[in-house]
Parts: sequence; structure tokens; C-alpha cells
Amino acid sequence: IGANLARAVERFGDRDALVDVPSGRRWTYAEFGEAVEEVALGLLAKGVAKGDRVGIWAVNCPEWVLVQYATARIGAIMVNVNPAYRVHELEYVLAQSGIEVLIASVEHKSSDYRRMVEQVRARCPALRDVVYIGDPTWHGLVRAGAGVRPERLAEREAQLSSDDPVNIQYTSGTTGFPKGATLSHHNILNNGYFVGETVGYTERDRICLPVPFYHCFGMVMGNLGATSHGACVVIPAPSFDAAATLRAVERERCTSLYGVPTMFIAELGLPDFAAYDLSTLRTGIMAGSPCPAEVMKRVVGEMNMAEVAICYGMTETSPVSTQTRREDDLERRTGTVGRVLPHIEVKVVDPATGVTLERGEAGELCTRGYSVMRGYWNEPERTAEAIDDSHWMHTGDLAVMREDGYVVIVGRIKDMIIRGGENVYPREIEEFLHSHPKISDVQVIGVPDEKYGEEIMACVILRDRAGTLSREELARYCRGRLAHYKVPRYLRILDAFPMTVSGKVRKIELREQAAGRGF
Ligand code: ATP
Ligand code: MG
Repeated sequence: IGANLARAVERFGDRDALVDVPSGRRWTYAEFGEAVEEVALGLLAKGVAKGDRVGIWAVNCPEWVLVQYATARIGAIMVNVNPAYRVHELEYVLAQSGIEVLIASVEHKSSDYRRMVEQVRARCPALRDVVYIGDPTWHGLVRAGAGVRPERLAEREAQLSSDDPVNIQYTSGTTGFPKGATLSHHNILNNGYFVGETVGYTERDRICLPVPFYHCFGMVMGNLGATSHGACVVIPAPSFDAAATLRAVERERCTSLYGVPTMFIAELGLPDFAAYDLSTLRTGIMAGSPCPAEVMKRVVGEMNMAEVAICYGMTETSPVSTQTRREDDLERRTGTVGRVLPHIEVKVVDPATGVTLERGEAGELCTRGYSVMRGYWNEPERTAEAIDDSHWMHTGDLAVMREDGYVVIVGRIKDMIIRGGENVYPREIEEFLHSHPKISDVQVIGVPDEKYGEEIMACVILRDRAGTLSREELARYCRGRLAHYKVPRYLRILDAFPMTVSGKVRKIELREQAAGRGF
């Protein structure tokens, strides 16, 4: 990663590398390279050795990106800590990954990071140093680096290999407790490069990133995807803000915009959406969870993102395995998650027998190639459950490979509803209910039922928050258009869904809520 950055500095020195819209700070590639070096030297001054874990617990800010490249240059393993974590989760990650130096935000919204760190510090003996971004400890880090000979950095770099672990990324925790995927330079740099190549990035691209850096979407598909092609990263806000995002696109003349579907839904739903000038956009990436076709049509048509790519992947595979191509038509963009990226293999197997299925049949998606993680950090048993002896990563996702090689994600194995012996895929019902004029967003879950084993519940956010929707009304809408066994038996109206910080709906929590409330 360090060598790749050096090449970008050499080739694109005077072009923008990074823009922070909230603070107005900006770096060309030459300036960015220097700033990374300052932080790298500062970490050497702190005695960070090859393989040491350096945690970053921060909302999106330029320092996050500097730390990402600085840790890579000195061969440290950066551990991304979820900025939404609270004390006990922080303590878990600090201990689980053995973080020695933690770099943290001071505070953001209701999170007082400094206070939370102080609360756990005494219980984490491995943690020997904490640096807060923007406060005197950060300036101290940079100052200490000024006293280190640059040759020491070159000496360290000479000891590194592309197979060294560079990053522990925790999964989103959508289906349970997050797992720490250990990823090498080779894993994530290649993936960032091929994602960027497939979107067609050049040094003329400016990528607006409202997605958290802490997650692979931001730090690999965003940051590494940009620098490996000389493009510029634009930070619209410390955490997702729909209006700030569109303002940043307009001001910085961005050509690309990232987001999970819920972010695009929020942007399209802004009351003054039509007032933003989005004419510079050409592309972007939507990933992380299924995108309703209606939303995709509006993103292409109203946000000017004719080439927007859909990516599918998971933290454990660096992350992207399949992606749509620039020339794909709307049908492929709305109906599939694209086809496999170069140097990666995918197959669809019968989850029970492991036998590879014919194209067109639904089964568990497995992936193999350079992108598969080294393993879950310090969890060999879980690693062995996920990656088999032939190096295939079992994704836990149900998918169909079409005749044309494009992959359709049917849903997560864990989310599939089995109602009276019939497999019901929530995605299909969600897709249909999105067309209901009163519904803004919808999640479909299975809830226990004595007669059928499971029954179907639709959890709905209404367009008009003060409006109403009855179960009968919903059933009438479904009649004749959805097979009777797929019609939701229960309806729950919510103001918001429980979300992971990477922007995914935690169905596990919706199911727990439903069970706890009775229905
Ligand atoms: P956890 O593993 O902790 O439960 P998670 O699986 O959500 O959380 P991530 O690694 O962030 O953690 O997400 C990967 C998952 O996201 C995939 O396994 C898949 O279920 C889902 N996903 C990713 N991209 C898409 C997509 N384009 N369409 C549908 N689902 C997607
Ligand atoms: Mg997962």
C-alpha cells in the first residue's frame, strides 16, 4: 500500500487527493504523501513495531485517511473500531485485537470518545497510548515524528511483504456479534484497484464518500479505489448527512457518489432535492444491501448517475466479489449484483451437500481468490467454519448465477422465512411493497407461528409520518399480485429501523423487537 501511494504521489503530485468539506482543508497528492509520512514517523517515534495493532476509533475526517496509509507504511495492523460503539464494545475490541495505540475522535454528536476511553483504559493493559485527533496529543504525535530520521521509515518498509496483515476490519454485526477479518495489503489494495478500474476511475474523478471509513466500503472501495487511480476523495461530513452530501457533490463537482441504499433513499427524499446541481456526477457505487429497483431508477435518472455500479461482497473478501459494468443496462443494474471481478472465482452450492448447482438454481454463494481474508483475528474455529479446505469462503448468502454470468442475491440464509414448508425470500416481498404509494421503506421478517412455523411481518416506514396504513389495506394491495403465502400477516409501522453504522438494517433486532412486543 505504501509503494502504491508513492507511485500516485509521483504520477499525480499536483492533483487533489483529499478534500474535507466541513473544515475546508485540502491536500494534493504531494501534500498528502508528506502528511502521511509525518504520521508514519510519529508512530515510529511512539515505538510502534511491525505487526503491532493501532486502533482507529473515529468518525470520518482527513486524519482517518492519514492513519490508514501511515499504519500501512510502517507495517502496523490498523484496527477499525466502529464509531457507534459504546464502552463495553470498545473494551471488547481493544482486548480482542490487542490494540496498543488508539487514535480516537474527541467527540461527535452524543459520543464523548475521550470519556469512554478513560473509562476502559485501566482495564486494558495492552493499550499504552491514546492520541486524540485535533487535540494536543495529535500535534504531539506529528512533532515526535519530526525527530525521527526518514531512513528509519525506509528501513521498516524494506521489511514488509504484501502478504503481511495490514488491517483488522470487523464485520457489520448485521446478523450477530461482529467478527474481526484480518486482511493483507495484497487483499485490500488489489480489491480497491479492481473496483476502481471497473468503475473506470482516472485522476479526473472526485469521489464523494458519505459512507463510514471504518467500514470496507469507505476505506477500500473509497480510499484505496481512489488513490490507486489518482482520483480524489471528498469527505462531505463526519457522519452521514443527506443534505451535506449533496452540497459536497455540488461544491466539489464530484463525479462519483457512494452509498448504501438507505442513504440514496434519504438524499432523494430531501425536500429541496431538486435544488442541488448534480450534473457533474456520472457514476458511483451502491452496495451493502439490496437496492430496490424503484430507488435505482431514480438514482440513474434524477441523480445523473447513469453508470452507477452495484457491488456485492463482504468484509471477509476485501470486500467486493461481483460488480456491474459501466455498459450494463438498467435491468442488470436493478436485477443483479453484477458479475465476478477479475482474478476471483464464485460458485453457487447446495448449502446442505456442498455440491455445485446449475446456473439458475438458488444456493449458497462461495468465493475464492486473492480477496479472501487471512482469517478471523484469533478465532481459528470460526475461520475454519467460514473458509473450507479448498479455500472457498462460504458467504451465508443465497444467490443465483444466471446464464449470462450475472449474480442475483436472493437473501441471507439467516433471513430466509420458512412458512408452512415454503421458502419465502423477504427481498421479493420488500421489492414489491416498495411500489406502494404510502410506503417509504420496508423490511420483511419472519416471526414464530404455531401453525406455519413462521409467519411474515412487514415493518414499514410511511412516506407521510403522520399518515396511516392498515393491515387490510396492505393485504388488499397484495391480493392478486403476490402469491397468497407471501402476503404479510402482520404489519408494524415504525419511525426508523435499527441500523448498523455501515447503514444496514439489523433484522435480528427487528425480530427480537417483534418477539418482545408480541404481535
Ligand atoms: P455480520 O457478518 O457481522 O452479520 P454483515 O454480513 O452485514 O454483518 P458486512 O461484511 O459488512 O457484514 O456485509 C456483507 C453482507 O452484506 C453480505 O454477506 C450480504 O449479505 C450483504 N450485501 C453486500 N452487498 C450486497 C448487495 N449488493 N446486495 C445484497 N446484499 C449485499
Ligand atoms: Mg457477514
